[in-house]
Amino acid sequence: MAQRQSTTAAVRNGIESDTQYGAVVPPLYLSTNYSFDGHKIPREFDYSRSGNPTRSVLANTLAELEQGVSAVITSTGMSAITLITALLDHNDVLVVPHDCYGGSLRLFKHLSSKGHFILNVIDQTDKFAWENAIAAKPALIWLETPSNPLLRVVDIKAVVNKAKTVNALVAVDNTFLSPLLQQPIALGADIVVHSTTKYINGHSDVVGGVVVAAEKELGEQLDWLANTLGLSGGAFDAYLTLRGIRTLPLRMKQHEYNAQCIVERLTAHPQVAKLYYPGLPDHPEHEIAKKQQLGFGGMISFELKGGEASLVTFLETLSFFSVAESLGGVESLLAVPATMTHRSMDDEAQQRAGISPNLIRLSVGIEDAQDLVNDIVTALDAAARYNGVDA
Ligand SMILES: *Cc1c(COP(=O)(O)O)cnc(C)c1O
Repeated sequence: MAQRQSTTAAVRNGIESDTQYGAVVPPLYLSTNYSFDGHKIPREFDYSRSGNPTRSVLANTLAELEQGVSAVITSTGMSAITLITALLDHNDVLVVPHDCYGGSLRLFKHLSSKGHFILNVIDQTDKFAWENAIAAKPALIWLETPSNPLLRVVDIKAVVNKAKTVNALVAVDNTFLSPLLQQPIALGADIVVHSTTKYINGHSDVVGGVVVAAEKELGEQLDWLANTLGLSGGAFDAYLTLRGIRTLPLRMKQHEYNAQCIVERLTAHPQVAKLYYPGLPDHPEHEIAKKQQLGFGGMISFELKGGEASLVTFLETLSFFSVAESLGGVESLLAVPATMTHRSMDDEAQQRAGISPNLIRLSVGIEDAQDLVNDIVTALDAAARYNGVDA
C-alpha cells in the first residue's frame, strides 16, 4: 500500500475491503461464530471473543495511527488498563503517577492490595522520586500525559531512557490527545492505551478501549491475555468507533482551535485564579509539550475565584457546556473533578494532586468557537458577583 498520513489512514481504513459485494464501508459482522471450511480447516475467525472481522479493522486502524505493530480492542478503557496489569507478576513493581485517572489509580491500588504486583505511586515531576523509583528496578512504568485534570506533561523520551537502564516497559495512557496529537511509540514507549470512549470514538455513545503494542511478541501476549481474560470489545461498538475515527483528524483540529479561543479569554478574565493548558508559554512543561506533542489538545482546567456560590452561579449560567463526566465528545462538557471525576480520591490525595474544590475541567467541543467564548465570559461575569459571599 502507498505511504499515507494519519489523516488518510483515519478516513480510509477498511474502505473497499469487502470482497463479497464490494461494499465501500466495511460491513458489521455480528456473528459470534464462524463455520469451518471443512474437517480441520478453520477460517481466519472462529469465535468472536478471540477475533472478529469488524473489531479487527478497528485494531488495524489504531495500530497504524499509533505506529504500533498490533492492537487489542477491549470493552472499556478500564479493561484495556486491566489487560496491561495482567502482564505483571506478583513481585513486579509498577510505577504510576499520583495524579493519574481516578479509575486507574483505584484499579492499581485494588490489584496491588490483593498481591497481584507491587505499586509505587510517585509525583512524576519530582526528580528525586524518579531516582528512587528506578533504583527499585520496576517492571512497568505508567505514564499519563497530559494528566487529568491538571494537564501536567511528562517527557516520554526521558522516561523511556530511564526505563531502558533497568529493562522496564513503558506504557502511556494517550487518551487526552489521541494518536493525531501524540504518538508515544514513536518516542520509544512499548505500550499505548486509550479509553476510546473519549476522542477516538468522539460522539459520547460508545464505551471502549484499546491497547497498542510496539513489538510483535508483546502484542501476541496481550492478544492471548485479552482472549483468556475475556476483555475483548463488541463488534457493534467497534463499528461505531471506526465510524467516529473517520472524522478524528477534523475534530481534533476544531477541539484545539476552540480551546485556544477560550484559553485566550480565560487568561484575561479576573474571575480565573489559575489556568492550566499546556499551550500556555508559562505552563511548567510547555517546552516538553511543544517538543513531544503535535498539538495542545482540547482540554482546559482552571480554578474559579470565590467560594461555592460563585461556582454554582458559573455552572448554572452556562448554556453550551453540559455538566457531565467524560470528555472528548463533539459536545462541550464541564466537570468539577473534586466532586465528580476524582471523588474516589480522598481529600488528602486530592490535595496532593492539586485538585481544589473550585477546579473546573472543560472538554471543549466542536461547536462555534465564538458561541463557546461568549458563554464562558457571561458565566464568569455572573460568578464574579458572588465573590466573598461564602469564601
Ligand atoms: C476515561 C478514561 C479512562 C477509563 O476509560 P473507560 O472507557 O471509562 O473505561 C482511562 N484513562 C483516562 C485518561 C480516561 O480519561
